[in-house]
Amino acid sequence: MSTEKLALTTNSSARKPASAGGASNALAADLTRALGPRKVLSNLSERLNYRYDAIQFGATPLAVVLPERTEDVVVAVRAARAAGVPIVGRGAASGLSGGAAPLEPGLVISFTRMTRLTIHQGRREATAQAGVVTLAVTEAARPHGLIYPPDPASFRTSTIGGNLAENAGGPMCFKYGVSGDYVRALEFVDADGEVHRLTRDVFDLAGLLIGSEGTLGLITEATLRLIPPPRFTRTLMAHFPEVGACAEAVSRAIAAGAVPSKLEFMDRACTNAVEDYLHLGLPRDAEAVLLVDTDGEDLDTVQDELQLVEDACVASGGTVRRAATDDEGAQLWRARRSVSPALGRIRPQRMNEDIVVPRSALPDVVREIRALGDASPFPVVQFGHIGDGNLHPNILFDPRTEDAHAVHDLAHRIALVAIRHGGVLSGEHGIGSMKRDFMTDAVDPDTMQALRGVKRALDPGGALNPGKILPAEGVDG
Ligand SMILES: Cc1cc2nc3c(=O)[nH]c(=O)nc-3n(C[C@H](O)[C@H](O)[C@H](O)COP(=O)(O)OP(=O)(O)OC[C@H]3O[C@@H](n4cnc5c(N)ncnc54)[C@H](O)[C@@H]3O)c2cc1C
Repeated sequence: MSTEKLALTTNSSARKPASAGGASNALAADLTRALGPRKVLSNLSERLNYRYDAIQFGATPLAVVLPERTEDVVVAVRAARAAGVPIVGRGAASGLSGGAAPLEPGLVISFTRMTRLTIHQGRREATAQAGVVTLAVTEAARPHGLIYPPDPASFRTSTIGGNLAENAGGPMCFKYGVSGDYVRALEFVDADGEVHRLTRDVFDLAGLLIGSEGTLGLITEATLRLIPPPRFTRTLMAHFPEVGACAEAVSRAIAAGAVPSKLEFMDRACTNAVEDYLHLGLPRDAEAVLLVDTDGEDLDTVQDELQLVEDACVASGGTVRRAATDDEGAQLWRARRSVSPALGRIRPQRMNEDIVVPRSALPDVVREIRALGDASPFPVVQFGHIGDGNLHPNILFDPRTEDAHAVHDLAHRIALVAIRHGGVLSGEHGIGSMKRDFMTDAVDPDTMQALRGVKRALDPGGALNPGKILPAEGVDG
């Protein structure tokens, strides 16, 4: 989605306005002198590749730095500050809220070369530079009898820095928690180019950086907690004639004492999109499909827990299919993992919302969002981590032929449904620029002022990822 079409505004700040060509040459020349040509991209053809994330196009950066160590980040931040241009951190650019897409020409710091990773088996920890890919942590930990549980569906590409900046979650988050729950210590570079190493015992400043989307500091390294993998996993799929029954089954199972390791929901439109793509024999007529894993050290306990879930599904009117083998379980999860490519076949672009609502409100929320979708020209599909009430309504559209303003408007109305039901805008994808304008609906003016106070304290000049999360001053609702 183009920023021009959405007419996004940027935050006011103390920075000088960047004059495109001159600032670019001077900044790139300064950076090249300080870091050497290998770590700086200044050609337009190279810089064009750093203006988007997975969902949004932004401004072409004036220069791109590819740091290899924390000291390179310090040099880059100081050069950008001297030039008076904004600084945007970037991992794999798999973000779904426009976070890594610059809104103004400035400096992009791309962390993909900061990939040093050390496993400390005795301490059950990993030390990872910001650019380490999520999957690499688990792959490196596994020979030591350990895993790293945070599992965003983008785990093959997304980076630890990006995951922490978004506080990414995944299907395992109901039982195992999200990215921030695994951070023991964090190193970051602040807006002045100072390096800080934070543990979590004093004021939990590391917690402040987690989920801050690159607006408060640039994460350069993290010490991550690892755990032993569960010995056994069992899987079932249930389908329901209505969404309410599915939500009720989940609540029933949890009330009965089950803590599934994965709990995922797909609505009818989503199930049909996947079935059209993969032909797995999914129940096309079901209003809701639920995928569940239980896991643990003891097979009997794991199976008993799955039985609790099965009983809850049946009691709520669901039809249950258990996976007989691990392979069959993997096949069932293929359905959920293939949602993104399946949706891509329907329309080339999607606006991916990430609301969280109380689980009891899910049936009404899903129904109201479907009604909004039906009354719009766009296909809307819904899926998500139902255990946490985290729902991803996706608006599918073609930016070449369809009106981005209408998409934005529908996204706003979906956000308002969540807020009306006591929910929030984002469970794991962040606010970025995409949902920034909805913040005035979601946050009261006092809270907004407090958020602005935090931003001013850590980034007084407004240099770090401007225009993300917080609406422009003066629009506090
Ligand atoms: C197919 C698909 C599936 C997805 N599934 C999930 C999912 O299940 N769960 C989920 O939570 N997300 C999911 N996402 C969204 C995305 O993958 C996550 O938000 C991920 O954590 C982003 O990581 P990244 O390295 O790509 O970060 P980027 O997209 O590069 O950046 C994301 C944000 O972090 C900032 N940032 C990046 N690196 C740093 C750093 N070192 N320091 C400070 N700020 C930084 C950027 O400025 C930006 O604001 C999915 C995306 C796709 C495309």
